[in-house]
Parts: sequence; C-alpha cells; structure tokens
Amino acid sequence: MPIFEYKCKKCGHVMEFLEKSANASKHICEKCKGSSLERILSTFSTKQDSGSASQGNDSCPTGTCPFS
Ligand SMILES: [Zn+2]
Repeated sequence: MPIFEYKCKKCGHVMEFLEKSANASKHICEKCKGSSLERILSTFSTKQDSGSASQGNDSCPTGTCPFS
C-alpha cells in the first residue's frame, strides 16, 4: 500500500497518509485541521536541511525578497 506524504499549506506540517486507491480522498491536516494539503513526492528526496522552514528560495532571484 502506497504511502504519500502531504504538507499542509497552512501550517507547514508534514504528514503521511496511506492511500488505497489512486482516487485520493480528502485529507485534513492533523495539526491545524486545515484542508489545504499538497502532496509531496518523496521518491528520492529524503535530503533535509537543518533549517525548519522548508520554503524554497527559488521564487526570489536576488535572495532579498521578503517572505510573507
Ligand atoms: Zn496544518
């Protein structure tokens, strides 16, 4: 049974769900009960930085753009 990782767009909490079928049911964040989750493809991405914020900096070309 495949396990998929989801990340809450609201609080950033990452959790795993078992999915029995390809037609994924709606998940909610177990932390903030938010329903905006995005699936993380964790096939070969176990690399994690020590920083807590997993927000990518790709959207900022100069590195000085303010987040939030
Ligand atoms: Zn959440």
